[in-house]
Amino acid sequence: MTDDRNRSRREVLKLLAAGSGLLVFPLGTLLAGEREAAGDGARAPYWAYAVDTTRCIGCCACMRACRDENDVTAGVFRTWVERYRIGFDGEVRVDAATDNGYVFEPAAGEVARAFFVPKLCNHCEKSVCNQVCPVGAAFNTPDGVVLVDQKHCIGCGYCVQACPYGSRFIDPKTHKAGKCTFCYHRLAEGLAPACVHACPREARIFGDLNDPHSKLSVLLRQRHYRLLKPELGTHPKCYYLELDREVV
Ligand code: SF4
Ligand code: SF4
Repeated sequence: MTDDRNRSRREVLKLLAAGSGLLVFPLGTLLAGEREAAGDGARAPYWAYAVDTTRCIGCCACMRACRDENDVTAGVFRTWVERYRIGFDGEVRVDAATDNGYVFEPAAGEVARAFFVPKLCNHCEKSVCNQVCPVGAAFNTPDGVVLVDQKHCIGCGYCVQACPYGSRFIDPKTHKAGKCTFCYHRLAEGLAPACVHACPREARIFGDLNDPHSKLSVLLRQRHYRLLKPELGTHPKCYYLELDREVV
């Protein structure tokens, strides 16, 4: 396996463009990391994500935006929204919206509390999905994003099995591994991921952990957050603000 952490952002963009045929954009559009490499003193970004579970209303605008932006194949999801219903007896029931209308069916019965939890790839620092890839097609970029080189992926599904968050899938059309990319092509244009842009409640927050003044960094200093399955040592980079203890 190659040491993919050494791939430059420019190499990554070329790989993505070659693999999908979709992600072609001018390399003159540089993010802070490349500007730093170019010597203008800007700090290299390290991208991460937060979900404010007190703000999500389950409208699924994020799911629609993701599918439209990334031309996601029907029936698989780069991001999804789960509904948690906690009964007075402590029973936890979870369901998720699908791309068949993106609505949650009305639920019967009384609940002690209910809330929505958007999910996506956690872009783990210790990404077990990448570690099991037999051809080195899955890799972490220097700016903190976990990607799959579509040109080299052989669709074996090992990474899908390895991900403890259910964040990867084998695309039924391409037969390659698919997942959230943080809309890497949009980052190159200085834009936030499509789901973040689409959320009417600002329940999804994206930003640079290396910038102490980014909205994300400020929120993480001010608010209580939890990570999903931190005991696994994957070092996920999706921070869930005020997450209920029932969510794992
Ligand atoms: S959430 Fe899953 S697919 Fe995403 S980086 Fe972590 S282990 Fe890999
Ligand atoms: S768009 Fe925002 S409020 Fe609507 S479901 Fe997604 S995260 Fe929740």
